[in-house]
Amino acid sequence: MTSFEDARRIILQQVAPAGVERVLLLDAVGRIIAEDFAAPRDMPPWDNSAMDGFAVRSADCAPGVTLTVTDFIPAGACSRAAIAKGCAARIMTGAPIPPGADAVVPFEDTEQGAGTLKLLHQVRSQDHIRFQGEDVAAGEQVVSRGTLILAPQVSLLATFSAVLVPVYRRVRVAILSTGDELVELGKIPAASQIVNSNTLALAAAVKLCGAEPLILGIARDNRESHLALLSEGLKADVLITSAGVSVGDHDLVRETLRELGVVEQFWKVAIKPGGPTAFGVKGSLPVFSLPGNPVATLLTFEQFVRPALLKMMGHTKVLRRTVPGYLTGELRRKPGRLSFLRVHVTVAEGRYLVSNPGDQNTGILKTTLKANALALLPADRTEYRAGDQVDLQILDPTLEMEE
Ligand code: AMP
Ligand code: MG
Repeated sequence: MTSFEDARRIILQQVAPAGVERVLLLDAVGRIIAEDFAAPRDMPPWDNSAMDGFAVRSADCAPGVTLTVTDFIPAGACSRAAIAKGCAARIMTGAPIPPGADAVVPFEDTEQGAGTLKLLHQVRSQDHIRFQGEDVAAGEQVVSRGTLILAPQVSLLATFSAVLVPVYRRVRVAILSTGDELVELGKIPAASQIVNSNTLALAAAVKLCGAEPLILGIARDNRESHLALLSEGLKADVLITSAGVSVGDHDLVRETLRELGVVEQFWKVAIKPGGPTAFGVKGSLPVFSLPGNPVATLLTFEQFVRPALLKMMGHTKVLRRTVPGYLTGELRRKPGRLSFLRVHVTVAEGRYLVSNPGDQNTGILKTTLKANALALLPADRTEYRAGDQVDLQILDPTLEMEE
């Protein structure tokens, strides 16, 4: 049996960014930029006014002095006329500083007359001017490869006229459920049948990673059906299967994958739930064979598939950080394997308080719905008291928000 850490290490060693594409700036949001971006020009592009006021020659200025207003420069305009001695130009925020001027006096520091202004305070050279290149100098590397594109990056890239942005491409993830007991969503299950919910759950999880799900349908518990659909799945960037990976009589996934040239890297991980997980590769294509139990399917996706998909889409931080949480009640469990407890966490005085929202049996999906975090309980520890510390993975980002 492979340890949890080894399983993740093996997976992350086998996957690499899938490729780069150029997309429209807004389509790059939430994705990872694949090249360094250097500023093609200075920003600001020229010296400009930081205030609505008057562009002046500071040498002419002193408190009480009156200047003659000889020009008006609104934003979007440009004046080539130099400011003469004793004169000023009315100027709006963002407009270029006219020749001769070396400071801006905000309206509120003046007393305005008809075509004149009286200075109320001292004026120093460079006051209220934003200088060319003071934000970004031409050639400066402002967004590094590997950065997540959020609104500030869009703002900067737009400033520099980046119409197309190189980003790591979304990976296409084929999803195959297996089992004779399954019917597709929309069909009424007969006795002994269940709806194929795993395909939808996995597709949702794939989408939430920013990847593209490709639904292959259901492979029936026979070799031909497995061969046909698994070989279809091997045309995607990633293949995920659910069920049929244990030691049941009809568990055909692993042997059919082997037949199709997938080289298994591990089978069975020392975790609970999710033990019978397999991972293999065909060339650079990773294949995840997840257990069929819906709770285990989602948990193993979270622990093994999500980090791989993120890495393939250029993310460098792909694992959820573990943070300390504190139990609100006692807990007893059997020793054996690293366990993932589905827990409900609240925040009080900056600490995560952990409670057990329900039955932890792998058959109980409802507990997954009530959980906003996972507690990782090491294999050997069997008893916990209220107040004891546990390692948490926070799953629900709204935990950091409030009403
Ligand atoms: P297996 O791994 O084939 O032994 O399946 C384990 C359990 O998961 C069984 O109770 C299956 O009915 C259930 N299961 C398997 N595939 C799916 C699926 N696609 N959707 C929902 N439940 C499933
Ligand atoms: Mg089965």
